[in-house]
Amino acid sequence: MATERVEEAIEAIRLSGGRITVDRRAVIEALDRSDDHLTAEQLADAVWAQHPDINLATIYRTLELFERLDIAFHVHIGHGPSRWHLADDVHHHLVCEVCDKVIEIPDSTFDPLRVRLETDTGFVIDPHHFSLSGRCAECAAATPDAPNAGEASQG
Ligand SMILES: [Zn+2]
Ligand SMILES: [Zn+2]
Ligand SMILES: [Zn+2]
Repeated sequence: MATERVEEAIEAIRLSGGRITVDRRAVIEALDRSDDHLTAEQLADAVWAQHPDINLATIYRTLELFERLDIAFHVHIGHGPSRWHLADDVHHHLVCEVCDKVIEIPDSTFDPLRVRLETDTGFVIDPHHFSLSGRCAECAAATPDAPNAGEASQG
């Protein structure tokens, strides 16, 4: 069963003049099924569950194509390989350096910073490409000897 976002991604391929192949559809469906932040290899496992004949190089090429067509994008979350998202699911990531928890935050969170940086430096940030690292609320509370802990109380 194709969901609406699968149909939208397929329509984007069609509009770009690309062919709708079994491989491309399989990768879109794997992206759609995963709520998690899967690496290309984890996505390949998801694809192979239903289409074991599609090879890894094809899956990588398909992801690159999707990125050029704005159907999917990759994000760097902490160390290790990048993770993949369908492009209709734009959000940003905070990753805890202590427990590796990933917290998703809306695009609008960066608006004040985006405007400030553009005004001050002309630099246009792309905050979804990399995550911000730090400590989640629980880990920050558990390590009161943090470098900035003293400054906050002094206002
Ligand atoms: Zn995400
Ligand atoms: Zn944490
Ligand atoms: Zn990258």
